[in-house]
Amino acid sequence: MDKNKEKIAAEVARRRSFAIISHPDAGKTTMTEKLLLYGGAIHLAGTVKGRKADRHATSDWMEIEKQRGISVSSSVLQFEYENMCINILDTPGHQDFSEDTYRTLCAADSAVMMIDGARGVQEQTIKLFKVCRLRHIPIFTFINKMDRAAKNPFDLMDELEKVLGIFAVPYNWPIGTDGDFQGVYNRRLKQVELFHERGDHGASKIEAAVFKLDDPALKTVLNSYYLEKLTADLELLDLAGDEPDPQKILSGEQTPLFFGSALSNFGVEFFLREFIRMAPAPGARISAQGPIDPVDTPFSAFVFKIQANMNPDHHDRIAFIRINSGRFEKDMEVLHNRSGRKVKLAQLTQFMANDREIVEEAYAGDILGLFDPGLYHLGDSLSAGKRIDFEPIPVFPPEHFARVSARISMKRKQFQKGIEQLAEEGAIQVYQEPSIGTETYIIGVVGELQFDVLEFRLKNEYKVDLHIQHLPSRLARWVTCEDPAKMPQPGELKIGSSALEVLDKDDRLVLLFESEWASSWVEERNPGIKLLSIQDLEEAAQP
Ligand code: GDP
Repeated sequence: MDKNKEKIAAEVARRRSFAIISHPDAGKTTMTEKLLLYGGAIHLAGTVKGRKADRHATSDWMEIEKQRGISVSSSVLQFEYENMCINILDTPGHQDFSEDTYRTLCAADSAVMMIDGARGVQEQTIKLFKVCRLRHIPIFTFINKMDRAAKNPFDLMDELEKVLGIFAVPYNWPIGTDGDFQGVYNRRLKQVELFHERGDHGASKIEAAVFKLDDPALKTVLNSYYLEKLTADLELLDLAGDEPDPQKILSGEQTPLFFGSALSNFGVEFFLREFIRMAPAPGARISAQGPIDPVDTPFSAFVFKIQANMNPDHHDRIAFIRINSGRFEKDMEVLHNRSGRKVKLAQLTQFMANDREIVEEAYAGDILGLFDPGLYHLGDSLSAGKRIDFEPIPVFPPEHFARVSARISMKRKQFQKGIEQLAEEGAIQVYQEPSIGTETYIIGVVGELQFDVLEFRLKNEYKVDLHIQHLPSRLARWVTCEDPAKMPQPGELKIGSSALEVLDKDDRLVLLFESEWASSWVEERNPGIKLLSIQDLEEAAQP
């Protein structure tokens, strides 16, 4: 291998790019911050949310985040730990922003699933888990908030298996789960690790007191009740539990399970160490030209997220790319697959939330932000060598619809510009009613809160107040016809009042329904047509 390739191979091998998935409030933000603390990227942890002074961990790109107390835009945090280079893709936590989260997961090589020990597997965890499953990425589970009363750990394992269908292999085991957390038994190192609160609520790193199970000194610090319970638990685990199997972990069949408390740092560092040991480095990616090896292929990347106006002072638009192979060097020229144009990659930034740093070089697994003059679309590929088309990012069907217009019709131009921008970011899907002009659009979104984002961003970035009329429709179906000559025109279908007829951005006929039942009814009454969901439509379009 030549020196250049050797360097790339070494850099790729030490990269770990992952996303944290969780139900809101399970502790994702706290965990992110603690990982930064252990990575030396910050020195004292505070609360990530709502603390302006410590800019490193804030992701308050949007005013709405503060108002709602939720994180809307995903940021990328990079830090080094024990010579590993770690990229955390910080996914928005609110269930209504799941579409953006889904896309972010396309840029991750593994996921950390945070679960609140008292609540177990929650609704949003299930949704996000399913996407990880689809992508076959390994999932590491951290049961959080063990400093409080939690569910029985065996029941939690059972829940993971029954609800998610994944087998959990505990790497540590909690001692004291009724709000009397003493520490954990480390199953890999076969030792008891006892924790002591430092009294600063986890603002600084902690050390554990370590004992072998048969160490007489252990009895002097741990009540015999805990020791007996632990011994019984461990016996049961050895009898009934699965052995860790690296292959099953990589394919997402098994999940390494960790217990701890992000708030007080209990178990955070052990988790980080084990995670970087087991989580995969960037691997080959699927493309229309075959698998793309991260080391053997020159630079290539794909756009997984677009966001405009992150900085209210400059109305710039950022395309986030994930490097899939090779090395990025500042000012390099690459091929943009959709336009067929050569583009120069100048001024790429890496994001430490709001702090932008210009990047000189980066490697497969890294995430970069590109200033986007309006050239990039979600899913576009860039490559330094021959053309590469990475597999498309999945689209998600909208479930909420509204008729949207500008309150003041004089603002129509701005209104259209804002709607177009948000559509390109993938935040909304835009339809039009036939015979109605561009003053009113039908907007479809995956999560209802996206309407708030739409309203907020149009007001703040485009100075347009919106009129939003929510519609009862819940699903969109594209009208297709085997014989294109017989394709119905708007107004020709027998739909009664069961559907709303609209055109999508490519002028294709779409029906919006309140239920599956209504959609089947229309299909029956109109022989020759087939109604397809966006996913079916895209699948049908595949060669
Ligand atoms: P996110 O919505 O998943 O990002 O959750 P946050 O990290 O914002 O945490 C939600 C709440 O749970 C906050 O009040 C945290 O302080 C609290 N929290 C996070 N981790 C722990 C933990 O280990 N123990 C306890 N008791 N509270 C925690």
